[in-house]
Amino acid sequence: MRRVDSVVKTMIAQEVYRLTATIKKILESLQVTPGKKIDLRRDYDPGYTGNFMSKQDAEETTAAGIRLLAEQQDKLYAQNTYAVLIILQALDAAGKDSTIKHVMSGVNPMGVQVTSFKVPSAEELDHDYLWRSCVALPRRGNIAIFNRSWYEEVLVVRVHEEYLGRQQLPPLLNDRDIWSRRFREINNFERYLTDNGIIILKFFLNVSKEEQKRRFLERVEEPDKNWKFSAADIDERAFWDDYMDAYEEMFNTTSTSYAPWYIIPADHKWFTRLAVVSAIHDTLDRLRLAYPEVTPQQKEGLLAAKAKMEQENGDTDAGKKKDKNKSGKKS
Ligand code: ATP
Ligand code: MG
Repeated sequence: MRRVDSVVKTMIAQEVYRLTATIKKILESLQVTPGKKIDLRRDYDPGYTGNFMSKQDAEETTAAGIRLLAEQQDKLYAQNTYAVLIILQALDAAGKDSTIKHVMSGVNPMGVQVTSFKVPSAEELDHDYLWRSCVALPRRGNIAIFNRSWYEEVLVVRVHEEYLGRQQLPPLLNDRDIWSRRFREINNFERYLTDNGIIILKFFLNVSKEEQKRRFLERVEEPDKNWKFSAADIDERAFWDDYMDAYEEMFNTTSTSYAPWYIIPADHKWFTRLAVVSAIHDTLDRLRLAYPEVTPQQKEGLLAAKAKMEQENGDTDAGKKKDKNKSGKKS
């Protein structure tokens, strides 16, 4: 048993090595450096795949990442100290859903909750904009995935300013400074969360306008994908440039040392998965997660429990023998 354990550990160590060696540099280039001003369209290519040439080329590394993530989640859960919040933002058809499905395919569902944030309900609009997210924050030991998030408040609401009208804000607070205030509020809130042991990772899946069109057409043409198509998505596509501007300012103001943004190339889904799983793995790796160590008293308790169970087995065996003898007598 011990030998098997050590073989498995060695394999995992190799995977870790492979991941860190090949991916670290790529991850660095995808993270928005806090304080640095980026130009989304110029600096980030949606078709970028690093030194990976094809789906087959990336597959093994992605699979290793998924396995390692499952190991890390097990420790995260057992340790019950940190919580992880993964935020996914993107334009339509960038692959948020399929990224969640693949990247989380190895983890224990008990420790993961996915929340998709849609157009706010009347009840949600009756509260401050962070209210609906608070109840979905992860417990310690858990991973929460936000499929869209409070960032919609500086994206869709900014592109369609008329949506502010539904928010019942006091007129004095519905002014030109609202966006810079929201950026500040979000940064402060994320600081508060990280100060409480909630690790935050933010991913923007950066799909190109051409690839989005290709995926939309696929949704129209392939019967199995028809259900994914929404005519409203086509209307939203007309605001592409406004979204790019809103995203760019958002990255420039809300990528922080404690909650950085990753701009993930999303024209090749296989690369998106590889990059996302690697970034999560890398972040969790830095936490040095470990199973809780038992105290000498707990160890004593474990040994006592073991002895008790062995005693119970002895009793049962003795009981069985007795019964056998009894039935032997009868026959
Ligand atoms: P998919 O289309 O892949 O199922 P989705 O995330 O696009 O996933 P939809 O139900 O199509 O889900 O869209 C959700 C909509 O809700 C998006 O258009 C988004 O911009 C909008 N939304 C989310 N949060 C807010 C918000 N705070 N205010 C206004 N609109 C919001
Ligand atoms: Mg949609």
